[in-house]
Amino acid sequence: MDFISHPALPKRPWLPEPAQRFIAEQEARYAALSLPELEAELLDLVNAQQHHLDQDCIMLYAGTNVPNPRAAALLASDIGNRPNLGYPGAKYNLGMRQAEQLEVMLGLLLRRLFRADFAEHRLASGSMANLCAFMATAQPGEVAMVFDESAAGHATHQSYGAAGLYGLRVHPIPFDAERMDVDVPQLREQAHHLRPRLIVLAGSMCLFPYSVADVRAIADEVGAWVIYDAAHMSGLIAGGAFQQALHEGAHVMTSSTYKSFGGVPGGFVLTNEPALAQRIEAVAYPGLSANFDLGRTAALCLAALDLLAHGEEYAATMIANAQALAEALAERDVPVFRAAGRSHPFTQSQHVAIRAAPFGGGNRASARLAEANVIASSIGLPEAPIPDDANGIRLGTQEVTRWGMRPEHMPTIAEFIARVLVRGEPPARVRADVLDFRRKFTHLHFIRGG
Ligand SMILES: *Cc1c(COP(=O)(O)O)cnc(C)c1O
Repeated sequence: MDFISHPALPKRPWLPEPAQRFIAEQEARYAALSLPELEAELLDLVNAQQHHLDQDCIMLYAGTNVPNPRAAALLASDIGNRPNLGYPGAKYNLGMRQAEQLEVMLGLLLRRLFRADFAEHRLASGSMANLCAFMATAQPGEVAMVFDESAAGHATHQSYGAAGLYGLRVHPIPFDAERMDVDVPQLREQAHHLRPRLIVLAGSMCLFPYSVADVRAIADEVGAWVIYDAAHMSGLIAGGAFQQALHEGAHVMTSSTYKSFGGVPGGFVLTNEPALAQRIEAVAYPGLSANFDLGRTAALCLAALDLLAHGEEYAATMIANAQALAEALAERDVPVFRAAGRSHPFTQSQHVAIRAAPFGGGNRASARLAEANVIASSIGLPEAPIPDDANGIRLGTQEVTRWGMRPEHMPTIAEFIARVLVRGEPPARVRADVLDFRRKFTHLHFIRGG
């Protein structure tokens, strides 16, 4: 059977121009390939992509990690192809005894890791976990106070994301840039005026812990729930190296499972509030999901076992690496963002922020670094915006730490970054040295049997 080229897609002028060009070029190529050629291409693409990220790059993009290969294998196992609907022990579809036991195991492991009474883990992503938490705690039309983009608030917290799509009216939480924390007096004043139903803490870069207990006190005054979005932080929280938000006063904690948690992509919602637990579970099933991926459940069991065994050392090493990286960057005239009101002004987490203004913006700077095989991303910082680019660059040490890099390796990485950004060396020349360095790190740490 010949491949029949489909009619040209309607133009999508709302896409960024580089995306329109890229899609058009690739579609033109694929339209000319036979089915066997397409299959060969797809297998090549998967291998090449994996090789590039796992072997050739220094991965400092904060929103990723490399899972235990045994967890990745479990994700791909056949059980993931089986539908699985309902509660363990009372499934709609029958014959699922072993799957039901896996679910019970994951719930128990998550509750142990985070000392939580309830864990909902059937959600496919952190974004779905946030939507679930919003739906379980607030009605459309109610007010949610969230970190805006200058405080690294996530898309799902914004009016254009899950919060707004669900109908919440979103207002920014006043933010203290000196401490990179909530401005508590300002929040109190605004919350008494706005009467939020939700106060959503944390975002896609958390350099320091937040004043969760103070925010909870305000929430109690105005009748709001506090949701802590631990998408990036759950691995550190599990390792006891970052704030225990649920125990400091958050009613709900949501997370992704593929960032510092170190698992495969997924999401979970935790709470110690019985009234919320029932609503969260009802929103997750049958509200937002029917079937869910049992391969993910199995893989996340293994990731949770890794964290129970090695989480403390993993979390401490991520933070030590981030602090060493920040210092080494600053020594090389890279403008590392400082929170002047903190005793470790660069970071107390796996994240490091760089001011991007001197480099024309965070996206432009990250693109240059990527040409040297150093992967970073842009982020919003609470300072002057830059026209058509982000004003910050975000780095995360969660993956390089898994590959066995330690504080003594951070000056080498800082030097690569400084050569590209500060000294303007051609990225291709730096890449050759990045490849040499990267070759030394071939197996994963902080995993059981690793
Ligand atoms: C990554 C992230 C999410 C979304 O998680 P996904 O699993 O990618 O959907 C939610 N909140 C924050 C703060 C994030 O950084």
